Amino acid sequence: MQHPPHQSPQVAAVTALPGPRVPSREEDGPWHAEAVCKRDEAGLFFAPSKEPTAARLSREEAAKRVCARCPVMIACRQHALLQPEPYGVWGGLTAAERRVVLARMRRRAGELRQQPGSEPIAAAG
Ligand code: SF4
Repeated sequence: MQHPPHQSPQVAAVTALPGPRVPSREEDGPWHAEAVCKRDEAGLFFAPSKEPTAARLSREEAAKRVCARCPVMIACRQHALLQPEPYGVWGGLTAAERRVVLARMRRRAGELRQQPGSEPIAAAG
């Protein structure tokens, strides 16, 4: 079974279960309509189970080549970082690459909070 790139196998499994409806990622916004990868027939964007490392690297590079010619790459990447999406290639970034970007963003936000004159941020909760 093929999964659209914006619906990981994990989400597909959850949405197939009875119970509260989990929103489809196809409802994320207009950018999805222009996604080059709407039909991920080659299965490039999400890892099959027990995928060897060499195969994963090759698959991810192929997915990134698709992303590189996608007109909605920036919107897709922003979506994947904001969610955050834990699996798959989104916006030309692998899950590991997105974790690095998010860590940098958090570190940068922390540095900005430490700067003299910055407003203290109230703790949530
Ligand atoms: S950037 Fe990549 S993952 Fe995102 S919609 Fe385009 S082809 Fe799909």
